[in-house]
Amino acid sequence: MQNLDHTNITGTAINYLYVCTRKLWFYQHHLEMEHTSERVDLGKHTHEESYPREKRREWDIDNLVKIDFVDKHGILHDVKSGPAMETAHIMQLCYYLYLLKQKGVANRTGVINYPRQRRTTEVELTSERERELETAIEKVNHIATLPTPPHADYMKICKSCSYQELCWS
Ligand code: SF4
Repeated sequence: MQNLDHTNITGTAINYLYVCTRKLWFYQHHLEMEHTSERVDLGKHTHEESYPREKRREWDIDNLVKIDFVDKHGILHDVKSGPAMETAHIMQLCYYLYLLKQKGVANRTGVINYPRQRRTTEVELTSERERELETAIEKVNHIATLPTPPHADYMKICKSCSYQELCWS
């Protein structure tokens, strides 16, 4: 295993790497506009609605990630509003498992819950995914050092992105 610096990398940063590197750069440079995003509000609402606070307990790892809840079998759960960005969701949850492994808590699995679609996706931190994650950590660190945001072409997701005004107006 490589010795990678992930001390400033949040779960959101890993997610954004797979969504849009330009979005990741804005986030890394503290242009945080997510509170204006309808999609994020929808995600938070979905979470609150589907899993009332009294029935769950969020877990925090080093102020980098927040695990929505851990069930009685020790499985980590991440609640999302929809599977459109599923690869990003999977790698984000793999990162949670990776951080736990770094702390000696291995052999955990995770589940992404899509309550609105009534479906779940099981996630395992395989050695292939661990290698992919380590490459992702290197990329996230590299993007943070870029002096200007990377170029991105218009995508379908731009319509609901909180940074659309910075990119397309
Ligand atoms: S509006 Fe589109 S290009 Fe701009 S940051 Fe968001 S997803 Fe990326």
